[in-house]
Amino acid sequence: MSTSTVRTRIAPSPTGFLHLGTARTALYSWAFARHHGGEFVLRIEDTDVARSTQDSVDQILAAMAWLGLGHDEGPVYQMQRLDRYQQVIEQMIAAGTAYRCYATPDELDAMREAQKARGEKTRYDGRWRPAPGKPLPAVPAGVKPVVRFANPADGVVTWNDLVKGPISISNTEIDDLIIQRPPADDAPEGTPGVPTYNFAVVVDDWDMRITHVFRGDEHINNTPWQINIWRAMAGGTPLPNYGHCPIILGDDGLKLSKRRGAVSVTAYEDAGYLPEGMLNYLARLGWSHGDDELFSLEQMVQWFDGSHLAKSPAQWDPAKLAWVNAQHLKAADDSRLAALVAGQLGKRGITSANAALADGRLAAMCALFKDRCSTTVELADWLAMYFAPVTPSDEERAAHLGDVIRPALATLAAQLDTASWDKAGIAAAMKATLGAHGLKMPQLAMPLRVLVCGRAQTPSVDAVLALFEKKIVVERLQCF
Ligand code: GLU
Repeated sequence: MSTSTVRTRIAPSPTGFLHLGTARTALYSWAFARHHGGEFVLRIEDTDVARSTQDSVDQILAAMAWLGLGHDEGPVYQMQRLDRYQQVIEQMIAAGTAYRCYATPDELDAMREAQKARGEKTRYDGRWRPAPGKPLPAVPAGVKPVVRFANPADGVVTWNDLVKGPISISNTEIDDLIIQRPPADDAPEGTPGVPTYNFAVVVDDWDMRITHVFRGDEHINNTPWQINIWRAMAGGTPLPNYGHCPIILGDDGLKLSKRRGAVSVTAYEDAGYLPEGMLNYLARLGWSHGDDELFSLEQMVQWFDGSHLAKSPAQWDPAKLAWVNAQHLKAADDSRLAALVAGQLGKRGITSANAALADGRLAAMCALFKDRCSTTVELADWLAMYFAPVTPSDEERAAHLGDVIRPALATLAAQLDTASWDKAGIAAAMKATLGAHGLKMPQLAMPLRVLVCGRAQTPSVDAVLALFEKKIVVERLQCF
């Protein structure tokens, strides 16, 4: 690997499902690496031990796999790198860029209260920070220290954000951050402490030679610490380029949250979206390529060079997502759709669709109906009629199933029973029935649809019927 290889990463915390915002930054990081022929790393930031769960890890990996954003390295788990963090901590303490702090939670509370009472901003007051000639408090017995970063006391941290442009934050705004907490009380002797996010992220980005970091703009305020820590540990090694993407707003203009429409990426899989539809929609929520609304992942890789990233937040629009997905659904291969629909039907307990999947009939059904659907769930809603009884609504019954049509439907049932079972045979049986009863096509086709399909609007009725088993059509007509 040459030193100029572009390396990006996505670093989700396994404290819940993969959020839509994280999926978007994963896409940007992945596409940017692919665009430059670089590498994409997946890192699991599991140092929040109390909130991290294996279930979340599994969900995140499943969501990434479903999206198809393959990683070249990882997953790397931070909790498996504690010895490495410990090594860096010791080097930093030796170099004077980090120090142990024995202040107890009670002491820190009292410190903050006093600052508030004086009308000051609350911040760590540096009581354990070593300085030439400064006497430090006596080390208290029985207190396990945290390690703090000795942040530069003055100066300004500046970076040219890939999304937001130049950002400067003064060091006087930030204090000496905790970078390592002691190991749990019951941990065996010699167990290293647990690093905090802002420290572990820098060690990892450095060790993993990350060149470009795309992430949510809630991390802008963390970036000065990360840059300072980087400089303290890595000296003049070039920093990664940071790009902070604006949050995604819900369709009510407020931050997308669990209560306001933010569901996991996998929930969209369950709801019948296609990964390429999701990715296309997510890509556009914060990036543009001219007026292009619909594109493939390959096109995005070709176009995504880190420019044209939006500075202001985009709004989640479920109707737009559905439209984008519908376009990808139309273009999708019918056998692939058939497998997805069989899965959806299986969830409803309709397993008989598997035979139609095997013999290609389900793919033909998908081809016939996909133009009118946005998701594979909607497709399954349509195709369920081929495998499970239908119950037309009272309105459809009242509108189309009067007594006058009874004799014609009886004739049609008999005609179909002996018809050759294809579009032409079905059309001929219908034509013969129309002639025998002096009816016009809609007078017969509507009741026929209502009885067989459960609704009056369908694609061309002979094409729809041809995909049924003949026996089912005849039975549904005879039941009337
Ligand atoms: N674990 C952090 C998060 O999930 C990663 C932030 C970063 O990319 O640096 O927000």
